[in-house]
Amino acid sequence: MSIDDYPWLNKAIGKLPKDLPGALLIHGQSGIGKRQLAYALAQSLLCADAVAPGTPCGRCAACHLFEVGNHVDYRLIQPESETEEGGLSGIAKAGKGKRASVRILVDDIRSLADLVANASHMGGAKVVVVAPAEALQPNAGNALLKMLEEPNRGTYFILVASAIHKILPTISSRCFKLAVSSPSPADATAWLSGRVTDHVAESLRLTSHAPIAALALSENSDFWPAREALMAEFGESTADPLRLAAGAEKLEPEVVGRLLGMWIYDLLAAQAGGDARYHADMDNIIQRIARQVSGADLYHWSDSVREYTRAALHPLNKRLALEALFASWPGVQQA
Ligand SMILES: [Zn+2]
Repeated sequence: MSIDDYPWLNKAIGKLPKDLPGALLIHGQSGIGKRQLAYALAQSLLCADAVAPGTPCGRCAACHLFEVGNHVDYRLIQPESETEEGGLSGIAKAGKGKRASVRILVDDIRSLADLVANASHMGGAKVVVVAPAEALQPNAGNALLKMLEEPNRGTYFILVASAIHKILPTISSRCFKLAVSSPSPADATAWLSGRVTDHVAESLRLTSHAPIAALALSENSDFWPAREALMAEFGESTADPLRLAAGAEKLEPEVVGRLLGMWIYDLLAAQAGGDARYHADMDNIIQRIARQVSGADLYHWSDSVREYTRAALHPLNKRLALEALFASWPGVQQA
């Protein structure tokens, strides 16, 4: 896909200065294509015949090497665990061994030393994309800061962040900050409807109308049955913690945490007389449960969900942690 496939990204490109800054920090809501923007800018910087920033020619040798992931003057720095943007679409792969690092480590940044110090191989720019920049460990952040402080040697750093407040101020102050805005809900709906037919509205709601995350989610055929089974069990007055845990185990812990966070939000909204915002397709169930559990219990349980999500970064026993979480679900205790 080219940048023209994401009209709202072109708007962001229009805010860039004519000469691209040596350090750029692209920030905005998760799942709206900041990474795609970073890649497009990187390719156009390397391209021998770029039409405009973010619009490489797509035909030159540099473009070809970039597209096959083989450009020697380009590096993508990301956590080992990273696959693509839009975390809600992630599904656990059963039986996976050691969990990949979710952080960018100092050695990852040190591995850039040669690229930064030496002249470019192909005679053009050198480009480093760091995504997500909030995954930088403190040591890695300090190593990167040293590189940003060096005089520019034709090296461009493009950092990508959804949570800009988590970036070291010393780093963000050295970058040109480019805010990317998501399209309006109506534009996001039109964009997604032109690409997929199933789960359009639900995907947009569950991703807060972030189009690219919603696209990935709508196309994730494992996610929908797993969510439906989990949420249907929740709707039972005899919800069983073991069955809930078994259902939730099919989803990544972060996804479970986000789904349950939205679930609690919707229940509290229902208690305040509103409609479900995220799980709107389950409004009937939500309105009923909202009458059965107390707001205080929901707040209390939301702490357990947050704790579970935090602990899930270092999973000791995923199933046990889920069983403990669901055993404390107030809807179960009332049954
Ligand atoms: Zn090109």
